[in-house]
Amino acid sequence: MSNHLAHVALNIPKENLFTYLIPSELEESVKPGHLVCVPLKKREEIGLVIDVNDAAMSEDMEYPVDLKEILALPYPYPVIDATLLRLARWISDYYLSPIGVTIRALIPTGLLPERSHRSPSPNIFDPRVKERQITCFGLAMAEDEILRHIASAEKKTPRQCAILKSILAKDGNASITEIFPDGRVPYALLKRMIDNGLLIQTRKRAFRDPSVLYNKPKIYKQISLTPEQESALSHLYSALDQGGFVPFLLHGVTGSGKTEVYLRLILRALEKNLQAIIIVPEISITHQLIDRFRYYLNDRIAILHSHLSEGERLDEWLRIKQGLADVVIGARSAVFAPLSRLGVIVCDEEHDTSYKQESLPRYHGRDVAIMRAQMTSCLICLGSATPSLESYYNTEIKKYHLLNLPKRVTPHPPPLVQIIDMKEESGLINREEDIQITFTKRLLDVLDETLKQGRQTLLFKNRRGYSPFLLCPKCGYVPKCPNCSVSLTYHATDHHIRCHYCDYQNVSPQGCPHCAEVSLKYMGHGTQKVEQEIKKIFPNASVARMDRDTTSRKGAHYEILNGVERGDIDILIGTQMVTKGLDLPKVVSVGVIGIDHMLNLPDFRSTERVFQIITQVAGRAGRGDESGKVFVQTYYPNHYSLSFARNHDYKAFYNREIGFRKRLSYPPFTRLVCLIVKGTDRKKTRKASRFIHKAIKSNLCTNQVRVLGPAMAPLFRLRGKYRYQIMLKALDYRLAHAAVRKALTDFQPQKDFLGVKVDVDIDPVNML
Ligand code: ADP
Ligand code: ZN
Repeated sequence: MSNHLAHVALNIPKENLFTYLIPSELEESVKPGHLVCVPLKKREEIGLVIDVNDAAMSEDMEYPVDLKEILALPYPYPVIDATLLRLARWISDYYLSPIGVTIRALIPTGLLPERSHRSPSPNIFDPRVKERQITCFGLAMAEDEILRHIASAEKKTPRQCAILKSILAKDGNASITEIFPDGRVPYALLKRMIDNGLLIQTRKRAFRDPSVLYNKPKIYKQISLTPEQESALSHLYSALDQGGFVPFLLHGVTGSGKTEVYLRLILRALEKNLQAIIIVPEISITHQLIDRFRYYLNDRIAILHSHLSEGERLDEWLRIKQGLADVVIGARSAVFAPLSRLGVIVCDEEHDTSYKQESLPRYHGRDVAIMRAQMTSCLICLGSATPSLESYYNTEIKKYHLLNLPKRVTPHPPPLVQIIDMKEESGLINREEDIQITFTKRLLDVLDETLKQGRQTLLFKNRRGYSPFLLCPKCGYVPKCPNCSVSLTYHATDHHIRCHYCDYQNVSPQGCPHCAEVSLKYMGHGTQKVEQEIKKIFPNASVARMDRDTTSRKGAHYEILNGVERGDIDILIGTQMVTKGLDLPKVVSVGVIGIDHMLNLPDFRSTERVFQIITQVAGRAGRGDESGKVFVQTYYPNHYSLSFARNHDYKAFYNREIGFRKRLSYPPFTRLVCLIVKGTDRKKTRKASRFIHKAIKSNLCTNQVRVLGPAMAPLFRLRGKYRYQIMLKALDYRLAHAAVRKALTDFQPQKDFLGVKVDVDIDPVNML
């Protein structure tokens, strides 16, 4: 019997690895990074081999007698290489996320094998997703015979010979589009050639191409770089030439041409036979990047983001793995792209909170990118107009190199930002709901003027739906989510009320269910209401809305943005999606409606967010041949995040905010761990949170870590569960992580707390 052991990660929320014997027939083939099929209780599971060793060689280990054997090896090659495996182990360790669950984030689901139903042998597997097959034509004779045929028949049947030649050029098997790129297919002729024994019909694998939606050919004019771009690039080039791990932060104001810098850097890496990853926070941005990179690189790019189907994701992943793509563009999970010659990672809009994954494994895409660059020993360039305080601080302590693009490349300086004080504005438009104003007169005048000039306006409203809550004007009743401690948002499109946290929905009540009142009031405003009102005020304008509700369909983003680029849309209303990285040269005016509630969120980063949003959304204005104007409606006109944003003064904002972080010991001066203890039984959950709090404290005999709580979480009920929060602020994060890990190990076997779960969020970005 063999005594070779494999330590396998299984997709179950357990910290530990499972050990199996490697049967002798697989001894040579099982390596770390391989998928294996193993028995677990009465089932079969697919796991990933993390480590392989020899039992006899480790002395302190008892010989394991009752170990089970690996059943099969679905693929003959490792699906994860050594660096990605190391990265996964780091994520699992640092973010306290079980290794098996972490590994699953690195493998496309479509790759996971299933026992083949077609094959009689039990050791044959199929990927979960079917290969896409397309019709092809192959040669019915050997190559030399065909060549002889062509030589003799070229005069008589030139079209047939041309077809044969193009099939020869594709190694004797070509798809219809390869043979007839113009799309005109002579089916009768093909049939005759088959009948005459020249061709056979075949099929071959084709990769699904998620970019077919986007690959409208666009022409980009050759750009000559500004001196600032040149200077930034010279630093990047020389780091690239030297090789090794070098982290940069490119701080470039909006419209300073950061994308061009990324592009040139990556082209340079390709010249050196290296590959690159670009991660962006939002798929709406990927479209513009994809168009631009495709122009230079054709099909050497691959795309990975959440709007792909399982099949598309698998095919893109396989293309990358097989070396058919050199540049990967995508959302945070693209940081795991299986490139083998990675030379550059770009993390655009590095400050963006959507880099943080909110479900297991709760990793931060930017921070994992830094780690991957370090493990791969390659260059990484973070970029933003509004860097996170954490990253900018890293440039001050010389962990990152700072590169500056302080000026716009476009003819106009950054737009003039004007703050509209809602308290002073008397031109209330929306009188029917007496306490609310949607648009001030000043903003409407701007819209009107912009329309008359035939230019575009962007209106930012960071709430979707029609109105955030309904209210009975008589008894004060507000429809609430039965599962979460939030009010339900009214959606006018289908007359439903919805919870934006748990997706609970119901038909909107006609009158108040508690008193005789016949109609409820629509309180506050979401994008739908803004859209409706704007359409009423400007009936001749063409208005579009971009939020999660209008972009859930695949390609919807692209259609809306294309409409804006073509100039078909006069006014674009949108949530955060429209603030990020878009380059829309015809937009001259930007209006910000209602940002105030963000200033009041119980989150130490809320001021930073407001500064970032205002700066970013303002950055969409005036990127073309006309200068831009930005109007921010607020009840807090003197708030410093607004004044610094108005003056485009990142550094001043940073200096003030970093002082606050230091005084209150917030990141980057400490690292945070947030634990949410949650359960359906309120009392039991509270007791559990006290138990964990005590356990963490008893594992810490240091003043390097402060433990706060347990307290009711700001969002106390979510999806039917009560939530208590424990927060750690750590000068030394290792001590904090270790204490939490130990406390959870003590907690898990406690019978008293059955049904209570704990979510651990390391370096949280969302404090609710
Ligand atoms: P950022 O990402 O910094 O906001 P972009 O990279 O989107 O800015 O650049 C804004 C616009 O300016 C784009 O349309 C880009 O093609 C153009 N651009 C970039 N660099 C130059 C340059 N050196 N000269 C002229 N136009 C440029
Ligand atoms: Zn809910």
